[in-house]
Amino acid sequence: MSRKPLYDITPFTALDFPDHLAAIFWFAKCQMQCVYCYNKDIVFGDGKISKEEALSFLQKRKGLLEGVVLSGGEATLYADLVEFCRQIKALDYKIKLDTNGLNPQIVSALVENDLVDYIALDYKAPKQKFEAITKNKHFDIFSSTLEYLLGKAFPFEVRTTIHSDLLQPEDINQIIDDLKKRGYENTYYLQKFVYTPDTIGKVEEQKDVFDTSKLSADLKVIWRQ
Ligand code: SF4
Repeated sequence: MSRKPLYDITPFTALDFPDHLAAIFWFAKCQMQCVYCYNKDIVFGDGKISKEEALSFLQKRKGLLEGVVLSGGEATLYADLVEFCRQIKALDYKIKLDTNGLNPQIVSALVENDLVDYIALDYKAPKQKFEAITKNKHFDIFSSTLEYLLGKAFPFEVRTTIHSDLLQPEDINQIIDDLKKRGYENTYYLQKFVYTPDTIGKVEEQKDVFDTSKLSADLKVIWRQ
């Protein structure tokens, strides 16, 4: 019997899937341990909801919801994700994947089989800060996912969470420069870290002020709450 992949379900969101009313499926486990992550229970905990229970939820919401956001944690760690998405698609839902980019094989399997409609890719930090912030060495793997999506001209967005003591405007400008050189032309989304006391890295309240006036204008940047 396969493990229960989902830690939780948010039954309704009008904010997380552009232009669609959606549910959010929160997958348990992650390959990163971002120091500012406040989803400790999801990252380290076990799933509590089976694939069958999640599909039954969607079956009952047909006509009320248009899409599903696969978030977490990291959805691509779920070994049966491709088949799961096939079953979600069979119920006529659109799928958005939120990913840290560390599983390009699964991302490409979803894209090649038309099993995902939109992707939000986290660009956690420039290469020299990637490991310090995520506790994962594999910027190169994240980079291959980014290259793959750009090569496919797939509809996706790149986003970064900013804790102003960890990432400075120069770091974000380095990311903007990298995205621009690779040919990314969509909006680049930034979101401010909101302090919670129990993050994975026990990070403190931000002391530095993030000076937005220093940001490069080479890409359209939008701040999200
Ligand atoms: S913030 Fe980092 S550790 Fe937390 S779920 Fe996202 S990728 Fe994983």
